[in-house]
Amino acid sequence: MPHSIPAQSQPHQPGIERLLDPPAEHIRADYMGSGKLKGRRALVSGGDSGIGRAAAVHFAREGADVAIMYLEEDEDANETVRLIEAEGGRALAIRGDVSCSTACDDAVARTVRALGGLDIVVNNASVQYVSSDLTDITDETWQRHMDVNINGYFYLTRAALPHLGPDSAIINTSSVNAFAGNESLVAYTTTKGAEMGFTRALALQLAPRGIRVNAVAPGPVWTPLQPASWGPVDPLAVANLGKDTPMGRIGQPSELGPAYVYLAAKDSSYVTGQTLHVNGGMIVNG
Ligand code: NAD
Ligand code: MG
Repeated sequence: MPHSIPAQSQPHQPGIERLLDPPAEHIRADYMGSGKLKGRRALVSGGDSGIGRAAAVHFAREGADVAIMYLEEDEDANETVRLIEAEGGRALAIRGDVSCSTACDDAVARTVRALGGLDIVVNNASVQYVSSDLTDITDETWQRHMDVNINGYFYLTRAALPHLGPDSAIINTSSVNAFAGNESLVAYTTTKGAEMGFTRALALQLAPRGIRVNAVAPGPVWTPLQPASWGPVDPLAVANLGKDTPMGRIGQPSELGPAYVYLAAKDSSYVTGQTLHVNGGMIVNG
């Protein structure tokens, strides 16, 4: 499982799966679905690649139909659609910017039309720009973090809520950085902390309606976000990701997907407002 990762960089965010060296694993070949999400309909933002693709493909292997929303990576989105359909699920790829509320309204409407309803929302689309000095962060870069990582989670959830019935689930991808901090990711960490507050407060509001709201807080995972965020600053930093975790390695998206299945399925029917820490053994508060 542990791959050695060479130094590398991708020039733009979002990054692209095809350029990852080595390629990432999104689901284990021996992951057995058992119908945990049969008949469920999911919408995953940033579901074209990385952790979002892993969630989408695991959902499909568990019997769900899955829509993905993504910014512009048509090739990655098409591949995720192919993977969902290969599992026997219906798939829909929606190109749209989560920082735009009408794009989120439209994505939910298209999902409901195509899949006949909505039961699971995964807020996962995010940006991450590296800066070791706060005074180097421009207004635009700071604002983009807020617009995508905070507003995007709010817009998509608000659009989805009228369609969610009892036993629905909302899952927010936060980060270990919300708990441990990261000196080079102040703006990003700020948004990941806000997503935790969003998760906890909304969980309280929606518990009486039977809608559960939880978070996943990944540690370093091998996705296009890594060479597209760390790479332009220091290609060698990409090669070293995860070496400082207790397990001493970066994680694969395939190691995250099962956490999303757990939080989406009835297995977690008594769990809301909580966080699953899938991070190679880093012990963090919360
Ligand atoms: P990724 O690049 O594969 O996924 C991020 C996705 O966000 C992209 O596919 C892109 O389409 C989407 N996106 C970005 N801006 C968007 C916008 N404005 N509108 C719509 N979609 C947009 O990288 P990933 O690492 O899988 O990231 C997924 C989530 O995991 C993020 O929330 C990230 O913060 C979180 N996370 C990742 C790691 C890691 O080590 N990779 C660690 C902790 C948390
Ligand atoms: Mg992508």
